[in-house]
Amino acid sequence: MINFTKFERINPEKRDVLQRLKDYDEVYEVFEKQRAKEQSDRCMQCGIPYCHTGCPLHNFIPSWLKQTATKNPDLAFALSNETSPFPEILGRICPQDVLCEGACSLNTGHGAISIGAVETHISEEAFARGLKPKFPGITSTKKVAVIGSGPSGISAATFLLRKGIGVTMYERDDIAGGLLTYGIPGFKLDKAVVRRRFDWLLEAGMKLELNCEIGKDVQIKELEENFDSIYLAIGATKGRKSNLEGEESSNVYMAIDFLKIIQKRNFNGTSEATLNVKDKKVVVIGGGDTAMDCLRTSVREGATSVKCLYRRDEANMPGSRKEVVNSKEEGVEFVFNVSPVKILSKDNLASAVELEKTQLSDAKEGGRQKIEIIPDSSYLEDADIIVLALGFSCEEPKFLDELNISRDEWGCVETTLFKTSNAKVYSGGDCQRGAHLAVTAAADGRDAAKLMVKELLA
Ligand code: SF4
Repeated sequence: MINFTKFERINPEKRDVLQRLKDYDEVYEVFEKQRAKEQSDRCMQCGIPYCHTGCPLHNFIPSWLKQTATKNPDLAFALSNETSPFPEILGRICPQDVLCEGACSLNTGHGAISIGAVETHISEEAFARGLKPKFPGITSTKKVAVIGSGPSGISAATFLLRKGIGVTMYERDDIAGGLLTYGIPGFKLDKAVVRRRFDWLLEAGMKLELNCEIGKDVQIKELEENFDSIYLAIGATKGRKSNLEGEESSNVYMAIDFLKIIQKRNFNGTSEATLNVKDKKVVVIGGGDTAMDCLRTSVREGATSVKCLYRRDEANMPGSRKEVVNSKEEGVEFVFNVSPVKILSKDNLASAVELEKTQLSDAKEGGRQKIEIIPDSSYLEDADIIVLALGFSCEEPKFLDELNISRDEWGCVETTLFKTSNAKVYSGGDCQRGAHLAVTAAADGRDAAKLMVKELLA
């Protein structure tokens, strides 16, 4: 260990750009054994591991790095799965630069440990040898209904099943996984990886009801009567509107709809909605990871030009650095410091975005720089397809009222330590905290499940 002077930080290899633009396969290779060992060997085993604090799941990172460095992969696998419901997924999709790796003590000079890449390696290497997550089978008479099959729902189901509690999961879509399936494109997360986790949950005894919308296909009162607890994990899936003139035009898409139409087509070969990006000029308004997903998807769909319009500068973009780098490599053009004024549209068809140039004010003490519009700076950015990637809000399905669930001023479920205003109902993840990361949703699902276990088995 402590070999950070001998080995430099290495990121996983990426597939050649020209190759990766031809398909939706994952861009990053998984570390092979020797590389994972060397990178784990760089860990200083800090007395107070900041990486552990930087990880929302508080994973035992130095412990599994040590076991990987000292060639004890079974223990590394066990430790890595202990705190996380799906480490091989989060190792792929977490924005490590602002979480565990951003907090790593080596990040200030020598280069953080490649934590995410080692995490993915540990599980993939173990799966290749036939190891899989352990479940005891259903040993309790207690049953929980989990509504939503995204990161928070999968996590809650995993930790309930680990204690032998029966779980039935309800998903309104045709394929389970929520954001992991329809939100995040395959070049970041292979859908077979998500399916594999569901296969194990089903093997562990979970029941999965697909194409099942609460309030339509099954009534919430039925669940309230038939289950001991309900876990609400319905996410925050409502795309935020821009309130710009012209945004209702037929070729203006909300980011999640844009991604979902294309992913559905990739799954089934068809999609009920038509969207043809080939030979089109695409502009995406927004600068987060979802915007990057839309941009990189557009490049793969054969757009003639793909531009990201963002109102601040590059340093202030909210998305993960590695996603910005990958987008640039793949040919995305970034237009910084521009703010949309309106969408030009005729006969319900948008043709351009009117933009004003911006500059950032001097930073106020402790505050974020303000955006100032530069007078007389407006210009037009032509577009055949416009995607709004401005974040997500909480949905408020009717069944929340039937359950007497209180919400906050943003429409998110109000909880005290995952408990809602209905004693039988718990909630966590995006529908409770507002749109955030898959890893925070996973942490909520785990912690809420632990609370349910404690109360159900008391
Ligand atoms: Fe880092 Fe995410 Fe893994 Fe935590 S779950 S160790 S933040 S990659």
